[in-house]
Amino acid sequence: MDGNQKIQGVLDLILLGPPGAGKGTQAEKLVGEFGLVQLSTGDLLRAAVAAGTDAGKAAKAVMDAGELVSDDIVLAILRDRLSDPDCASGVIFDGFPRTIAQAEALEDLLVETGRSLSAVIELRVDEDALVDRIVNRAAEAAAAGKPVRADDNAQTLRARLAAYHAQTAPLAAYYADKGTLTRVEAMGEITEIAARLNAVVAQVAA
Ligand code: AMP
Repeated sequence: MDGNQKIQGVLDLILLGPPGAGKGTQAEKLVGEFGLVQLSTGDLLRAAVAAGTDAGKAAKAVMDAGELVSDDIVLAILRDRLSDPDCASGVIFDGFPRTIAQAEALEDLLVETGRSLSAVIELRVDEDALVDRIVNRAAEAAAAGKPVRADDNAQTLRARLAAYHAQTAPLAAYYADKGTLTRVEAMGEITEIAARLNAVVAQVAA
């Protein structure tokens, strides 16, 4: 899809933030605006589960428990998707990396494929609001007759948040040390948050 805003060269971004921060929603908006591809490891894993592949079978129980799927499965799926032609002009990594080890593996993969990160954007949210957001997401999906994610319930969310704090939150400091991190306030109206993100991305794309 062609975005409204033209970008020069390859634009690879990471969206960081806890479950329910709005990474998927905002990634979709950036796709429309900048013509990037959203690369969500959660979506890729859910597709593998639905297709009943070996990777999907191995991942399902781990995902249902709100824990992290092994790096070899996630990296294989990611590497495969990143090699598709539509990813050539830039992707938004959504839900990846989730550990420092994944961040290091991503660096190697990007070097190998002649790419580099343009920005890492952390969505800052009030964590007390996250349970409500996730429960609402499940209720809205159900009301619209859409499938409800197996891990969108209060109990699994607690495990997902624990995994986030233990394994993913340290990435903000990791990327801040590298000078690539931008923090964006991500509470409030979706369109306002999207405007903040557009401004950050437009700046790195210029
Ligand atoms: P998400 O759609 O990003 O909320 O991810 C849903 C679930 O998929 C997570 O709770 C994990 O079980 C799994 N998952 C997604 N991305 C990753 C990743 N980068 N590393 C490990 N597990 C992941």
